[in-house]
Formats: sequence, structure tokens, C-alpha cells
Amino acid sequence: MREPPRRAPPSLKARLEAQIAQTGPIGVDEFMTRCLHDPRDGYYARRPAIGAGGDFVTAPAISQMFGELVGLWLIEAWRRIGAPARVILAEAGPGDGTLMSDIGRAARLCGGFGAAARPWLIETSAPLRRRQGERLGEAWTQLRWAGSLAELPTDAPLLLVANEFLDCLPARQFQRTERGWAERMLGLDGAGRLAFGLAPWPGAGLPSDAAIGSVIERSAAQEAFAAGLGARLAAQGGAALLVDYGAAEPGAGDTLQALGAHRKVDPLASPGRADVTVHANFPAVIAAARAAGAKAALLPQGELLRRLGIETRAKALAESRPDQAGRIGRQLERLTGADQMGELFKAAAIWSGPAPPGYESA
Ligand code: SAH
Repeated sequence: MREPPRRAPPSLKARLEAQIAQTGPIGVDEFMTRCLHDPRDGYYARRPAIGAGGDFVTAPAISQMFGELVGLWLIEAWRRIGAPARVILAEAGPGDGTLMSDIGRAARLCGGFGAAARPWLIETSAPLRRRQGERLGEAWTQLRWAGSLAELPTDAPLLLVANEFLDCLPARQFQRTERGWAERMLGLDGAGRLAFGLAPWPGAGLPSDAAIGSVIERSAAQEAFAAGLGARLAAQGGAALLVDYGAAEPGAGDTLQALGAHRKVDPLASPGRADVTVHANFPAVIAAARAAGAKAALLPQGELLRRLGIETRAKALAESRPDQAGRIGRQLERLTGADQMGELFKAAAIWSGPAPPGYESA
């Protein structure tokens, strides 16, 4: 008896095309969710590649200074709320665990904080959870994982950090046309291939004076995360630091982008094979956190790192390793330079009680 030839399972792109042919166009939000989290082909579900050899590099991997200063930020925020004997220390979207590892090094300099901290990682990706466990198991012996903010305990103050996490939360896109607002959606072109299109948007709440052609993004998921965080911090006490790329003012336009091997790629080319993101919508994040009862303020990343003493830290590192001084200087420039990450990246703090370091005048 002959076996039928084995066929490769259909790609995520083919499955999306088949789904759209059957049930109609999908929003950019659903497209992002499938690209990132589809159980069989999603980028984070299957093949996350973070770091120099992967698809994108983030601040913790650029320099240990980033994670150490975030660690000192957390320790000082903990002191300012009265150095409680128990505090939930959470990172959302920890990637390969570099930031939490550097925070651990800072925490060991302050024994009280290390003993008080109950470490939690909010992570949906199974392969990344495994990597985080291998990387962090020794430094953080009581490490636990949650699938979302809602799963964290509520019986102690919360200190949370997230770097490049908001940008993977899905957004919808709306475009102003001559006939009013339309939603930018994923449909099929004449040949049955995945393509962007516009569907009339009867909904309210978008500005009526926008120029024809302009695009607005709304991320219910970013806003829900900020609102959940604001409500928890108002109830439990504590502080959160959300670092990401995004504008301080509304109106950034279309920011959907896909990155593969450090290059921008067409997000429709091979869904699931590249990381897809939108900019963090900081005005909406700050407003949602405040509406939930917390305080919130935004600083450019470069400004926050300077206020936390990155220049002094870089100098000390360079003095202890003169052979590395050039490299450390370049790292400092990359993290804080106005034409590098210093201005495009922002750090939103959300808190209740005393202001965390850097945000005293906010
Ligand atoms: N913070 C890391 C990694 C950023 S990549 C760094 O700076 O290098 C985004 C991270 O968020 C990954 O760990 C990814 O698996 C996780 N993630 C993406 N969407 C998520 C979601 N909805 N809930 C929880 N984690 C998510």
C-alpha cells in the first residue's frame, strides 16, 4: 500500500487568506495577535529571536547599564513606599531575561530589597518562559510566571517594569477618507492574496478635523494594561515603569512595522516569521492610568537615564575597564543620544503614593 505524499501544513498566511475568504476582513489588531501568538505559527509562540543574532536588539542587550539603573529605580521606589517586607516585583514581556538578570545584580547590592521581592514574569511565550527559567533560575529562586497582569497577587505593593512590551499589544488603525473615517483592515486582493483595505467605520470618538489620508491608531490592549496597572497601584501601592518607542503627543500615524533579522520587512510577506509592532500610544496609556486612579508621567528615555545617573555609571565602568572605554561610550550614546534611542524611546511611570525616582517634578 502506498502512503499519500506528506503535504506541508498551510502557512499562517494561507490560513489567514482562507479565513478571510470565508468570514471576511480582519482588523489590524487581530492580524497582530495572530502574527505574534497563533499557537502554531505565531512569532512569540514559535520562534522568538531576540538579541544580536536574532531579529531585533533592545536596550537591556545594548548595555548592562540599562538594567542596573532600572534596578536602582526599583530599589529606590521600594524605599520611598516604606521598604515593605514583601513586594511583588514583576516584569512584563521579559524576552530573554537580560533585564531581570541585571535587576538581580542591582538587588544583591541591597539585601533588604532582594529579600522582600517576590519575582514574577508576565509572559505568554512558552519558548521564552523556558529560556527565562534557564537564565534566571539561580538568581531568582522564587521566580513565578503569569499569563497576564490579572494573575499577579494583590496582597502586597507592586513594582513592575516592562521594556518594549506595550508595542506588541495589538492596535486597530483608522484612516480618514473623503467620506469620513474608515477602518484599515486585512482583506484579499483580486488574486485572493492578503492585502490592506478600508472598511467604513460608523463608530464615534475620532477627531472630525483630521486631514484626508491621516491614520490614527487605537490600542484597547495597551489602554487596558495601563488601566489595570493604574487600578492595582492605586489599591496596592507601588510604581511601574513602561519603556517603549512612541510619541508623547497623539497623531503618530501608521506605525505598524515588522522586523526580521534587524531589517524592516513587509508585514504581509510572511506573517508569523517577523516581529510585528506598533508604537506605544503614550498619551492614551497615561490617560488610562490616571482615569484608573493612579498618577502617571512621561520622560524621554535619555532624560530618565541621565536623571538616574547613567553618565556617572558609564564613567565608573570606563575607569574600571579602560580597554572598554570606547565601547561603553558608544553604549551610552546609543541609549541616551537624541538621534538614537534617547528621544524616540520614552519611559512612562505610573504610581500611587510618593513619586518614583526621576519623576519628582511631574
Ligand atoms: N523586554 C524584552 C523583550 C521584548 S519582546 C527586551 O527588552 O528585550 C516582547 C516580550 O513580550 C516577549 O517576551 C514576548 O513574548 C512578550 N509578550 C508579547 N505579547 C505578550 C502578551 N500579550 N502578554 C505577555 N507577554 C507578551
